[in-house]
Amino acid sequence: MTDGHNDDVASITFENSDDSVVVIIGSGAGGGTLANELAQKGIRVVVLEAGPRRKITDFVNDEHGAYDMLTWHDRRTSTGNSPVVEKFKEAPTWLAKGVGGTTQHWAGQAVRFQEHEFRARTTYGHVSGTSLIDWPISLEEMLPFYDRAEQKMGVSGTHGMPHLPESNVAKVFMYGARRAGYTKVSQINAAVNSIPRDGRNACDQIGFCMQGCKSGAKWSTLYTEIPMAEATGYCEVRPESMALEIQHNDSGRITGVTYVDRSGIQHVQKARAVCIAGNSVETSRILLNSATPHFPDGLANTAGHVGRNYMRNMFAFLYGIFDRPVNMHRGYVCPGIVRDESEHNASRGFPGGFYLTGLGLGLPYHAAFLDPGGWGKEFSRLIEGYQHTCGVVALGEDMPMESNNVTLHPTDKDQHGLPVPVLNMDSHPTEIILRNYAHKCATKILESAGANTIIECPPMPSTHNLGACRMSEKPDDGVCNRWGQTHDISNLFISDGSQFSSNNAGNPTLTIVALAIRQAEYIAGHMGNNEF
Ligand SMILES: Cc1cc2nc3c(=O)[nH]c(=O)nc-3n(C[C@H](O)[C@H](O)[C@H](O)COP(=O)(O)OP(=O)(O)OC[C@H]3O[C@@H](n4cnc5c(N)ncnc54)[C@H](O)[C@@H]3O)c2cc1C
Ligand code: SF4
Repeated sequence: MTDGHNDDVASITFENSDDSVVVIIGSGAGGGTLANELAQKGIRVVVLEAGPRRKITDFVNDEHGAYDMLTWHDRRTSTGNSPVVEKFKEAPTWLAKGVGGTTQHWAGQAVRFQEHEFRARTTYGHVSGTSLIDWPISLEEMLPFYDRAEQKMGVSGTHGMPHLPESNVAKVFMYGARRAGYTKVSQINAAVNSIPRDGRNACDQIGFCMQGCKSGAKWSTLYTEIPMAEATGYCEVRPESMALEIQHNDSGRITGVTYVDRSGIQHVQKARAVCIAGNSVETSRILLNSATPHFPDGLANTAGHVGRNYMRNMFAFLYGIFDRPVNMHRGYVCPGIVRDESEHNASRGFPGGFYLTGLGLGLPYHAAFLDPGGWGKEFSRLIEGYQHTCGVVALGEDMPMESNNVTLHPTDKDQHGLPVPVLNMDSHPTEIILRNYAHKCATKILESAGANTIIECPPMPSTHNLGACRMSEKPDDGVCNRWGQTHDISNLFISDGSQFSSNNAGNPTLTIVALAIRQAEYIAGHMGNNEF
């Protein structure tokens, strides 16, 4: 395994004037995967990554220290009635900055979309206040790409990779779930090696997964896709290179990307095609920031959809305190899953479904999730129960709404002089019904496992940032087509979760990776035919 650096490989460099390269903005799940897939096909790639390049040995087993080191701290603000806005107005999202993107920070749960989730509008019908559409692709079409994504990432419980061992949280959670009457209960599929594989170690179950996995058992593009791409000799990664805007010529064709390097010097990298994978909010922001007289509302925005229909998953989180110790910090961070509630069942009063999983955190995150900035007698009592505590998370499908959008602040600027993004987050009424229902289910699991105290935790910043440049069959309904290619500009692609037409009941990243593999096939095929 490489440690995130590629000391063995003489890294190729491309001239800024080289207009034969594909420029990818962002090196996380979408961008890092796409870079490797294209480079393996002999396509020349330049990856612009705003954050630094770390070594695996730089990760710290300290939850607050890791948060400070990895998180995207550039300014953004939020509006809307979501409880997230009330609690975290200036930090509504949680993502990472640096080579590897949020795959450094993520937990690794790897869940496929279900068939009905690609046909949300057809399945749920008209849901007032939403802008639901069907995806222009089906589960059947995605199946081979899900297989390839799982094989690439080494997803436990798939393709011969055994499930992870049952940690204490897994045992408590699955015991409670079965006693509560659930039948689709198992270990979760995680992009974490349960056995040594692909030059990486097996998970040693020490539970620092969201701090950056120091053993490399958890898949991150930092030490998988990126070094593999570089080893081909077709990929150059430029860390600390923040893309500011995308350039086009008089006929509207994309010609390059303006970016600023670590010294504050601006450059223009010429490009044959540009693929944006900046994690939803930044992806929309770059397109909006690239407005010109030719495209006054920003790039790829003829239909007015750039920034709209942002989604984040419904998130509900509860703790149970038990008479006997659980020691939730030991083992993989979110083991165990209940799938019984993931199907669509209109009688519950909300569209779509949700998954329930176990969660075990270290003491610093435990305190922060319990009550950020908490203080006083009751808070102390709950903290005292730490060793006897087990967490349960419910993650559900939220609805796309046009008003949930990314816009540019009219006056506030960031360190690069770019307008700060403003994220509007409203909760659709059905999300509130879903959250209340999910709370009851999670409570039942914890009580069935023997918890003597149940604590409902407040919301947290969005770790799943999706939509805002959605794919659509009709150009009027979205930003890009079934390949992530923008409807307006043939050599401009959306390559991250911004493409999502609607959301699913669970985690998005496996689908982001599967879409990136699929997009690489399309780009390679059509570049070869000289179509862009
Ligand atoms: C704590 C946590 C736990 C999570 N757990 C899970 C999980 O268990 N399962 C799951 O499926 N998902 C999980 N996620 C979400 C998952 O990490 C993301 O869905 C995924 O990484 C998104 O991929 P991406 O390519 O869109 O963006 P990212 O992986 O975030 O990569 C985007 C990259 O683009 C860079 N960038 C942005 N703007 C620019 C610019 N202008 N110029 C240059 N570079 C730029 C950023 O620095 C970043 O490195 C978790 C997230 C967090 C924060
Ligand atoms: S528990 Fe496993 S996946 Fe998590 S940090 Fe440790 S080795 Fe990595």
